[in-house]
Amino acid sequence: MSQSLVTMSYIVATVLFIFSLSGLSNQETARRGNYYGMLGMAIAIIATALSASVTSYVVLIIALLIGGAIGVKAALKVEMTQMPELVAIMHSLVGMAAVLVGYANFMDSSLSLSGVEKNIHEVEIYVGILIGAVTFSGSVIAFGKLSERISGKPMLLPARHWLNLGLLVAAVFLGRLFLQQAEAGGGTFPLLLMTIIALAFGVHMVMAIGGADMPVVVSMLNSYSGWAAAATGFMLSNDLLIVTGALVGSSGAILSYIMCRAMNRNFISVIAGGFGTASGGEAAVIEGEVQPIDADETAQLLLTAKNIVIIPGYGMAVAQAQHTVNEITKLLRDKGKKVGFGIHPVAGRMPGHMNVLLAEAKVPYDIVYEMDEINEDWDHVDVSIVIGANDIVNPSALDDPNSPIAGMPVLECWKGETTIVLKRSMASGYAGVGNPLFVLENTRMLFGDANATMQAVLKALKG
Ligand code: NDP
Repeated sequence: MSQSLVTMSYIVATVLFIFSLSGLSNQETARRGNYYGMLGMAIAIIATALSASVTSYVVLIIALLIGGAIGVKAALKVEMTQMPELVAIMHSLVGMAAVLVGYANFMDSSLSLSGVEKNIHEVEIYVGILIGAVTFSGSVIAFGKLSERISGKPMLLPARHWLNLGLLVAAVFLGRLFLQQAEAGGGTFPLLLMTIIALAFGVHMVMAIGGADMPVVVSMLNSYSGWAAAATGFMLSNDLLIVTGALVGSSGAILSYIMCRAMNRNFISVIAGGFGTASGGEAAVIEGEVQPIDADETAQLLLTAKNIVIIPGYGMAVAQAQHTVNEITKLLRDKGKKVGFGIHPVAGRMPGHMNVLLAEAKVPYDIVYEMDEINEDWDHVDVSIVIGANDIVNPSALDDPNSPIAGMPVLECWKGETTIVLKRSMASGYAGVGNPLFVLENTRMLFGDANATMQAVLKALKG
C-alpha cells in the first residue's frame, strides 16, 4: 500500500476514533460509538499491516494470532464482575509494550540518526520507557487491588512524599546522564536504573491509595496507558499511534477529573496518596439493631408506594440481578408507579459499571438518573431499594470526619420514607467501613443473594 493511502486510512481511523469517543459519552449512542471504534481499529490494523513498515509477514501473522487468541479467550472467559481487573491488566500491557519498544529502539543499530534528530529520538526512548514502566507496575498493583489479591488498605511508608520527590529527581538526573552517555554510544546503565525506579514508583503510587479512591487510580492509569501508547507512536514514528494515544490519554485525564469531582477529592492529593485513610481519630463504630424484612413484606411495601428509587451497586453486578430488577421495574411501572434509578458515579468497580449493566438488561435510559438529580428529590420518595450497594449510600461520608470516605457525596436514601437494603450479610463494602444506614429506624434489611431475593420479590408481586 502506498504511503499516501496509509496516511489517508490513518486519518479516517482517527476521525472514527473521535466519533467513537463522542458516541461513548452518552448511553443512547454508546453502542454506535463502539462500532465506530471497532471499524477505526480494523482500518488501522489493516493499513499498518499493508504498509511498508512491515518487514516480515510471518512474524506479523504469528504475533496477530497469539495476541488475537489471548484477547478472544480472555473476553470469552471473563465474568462481568472481572471487567475492571481485565481493563487494569490491559493497561499494564500497553505500558509493557512501551518499555519493550523503547529498549528495542535503543538497541536498534540500523537507525542512522544524527544531531538534534538523534537527541530527540533518545528523549523519546527515555520518556517512553519511563511512562511505560510506571503504567505497567501501577496497573499490575491496581489489578491486584481490584481482584482483592492485594489488600485495599493504603500502604503508607514514612516520608512517602519525600520518597516520591527523591524518585522524581533521580529520574531527571538519570535522564541527563543517559543523554550524555548515549552521545558516545552508551547509556544502558542509566536507562536500566531509571526503569527500576519507574517500576518502583508505579508500585508505590498505587499501593498508597486507599480503597475508596481506587476509581481515580483506574481512570488515571487509563490516561497513562494512552500517553504510553503516544510515546510508543513517537518511537515508531507512527502518527496514528500518537493521535490515538493522545485521545486515550486526554480522555482518561478528563475522566480522572470527573471522578475526583464526584468523590470531592483533590486530584493531586489522591495521587500523592493519603486519602482513603482516616484523617484524625478512629472512624465511629456502628451500633444499633438491624430490622430484617422478607420478600413478601418488601412486595407489599412496593405495592403501596407511589414513588420508588432503585440504587444499584457492586453487589448487583456480583449477583447478576439486573434482568430481574428490570422485570420488577416493568411490573411496577405497569401498575402506575413512578420508578427511577439513582446512579452514583463510583458505583461498582469501574466508571459507568452500573449504566452498562442496566443497558444490558434494557432498562429505559430516561428513568436512569445521576446522583445529583436524585439527591434533590428524596422528600417525595416512598421506598428506595439499595441493591448490593454499600459505600455509595453510607451516611458517615457526610457526618463522620474520621471516616475514610469522609467528604464523598453519597446517595442520601435515608431521607426518603423507607429504605430496603439487599445484601448477604453485614459485611462492609470496598472501602472497608461500617455503614450506619443499616441500623437506621427507616431501614429494612433484606438478606440474601440479590438475584435470589429479587426473584422472590418478583414472585410475590405477581402472586
Ligand atoms: P461496595 O463495594 O461498597 O458494596 C457492595 C456490597 O454488595 C457489599 O457490601 C456486599 O455485601 C454486597 N454484595 C456483594 N455480592 C452480593 C450479592 N451477590 N448479593 C447481594 N449483595 C451483594 O459497592 P458500591 O457500589 O456501593 O461502592 C463502590 C465502591 O468501590 C466504592 O468504595 C468505590 O470507591 C470503589 N471502587 C469503584 C470503582 C469504580 O470505578 N466505580 C473502581 C474501584 C473501586 P455482602 O457481602 O454482605 O453481600
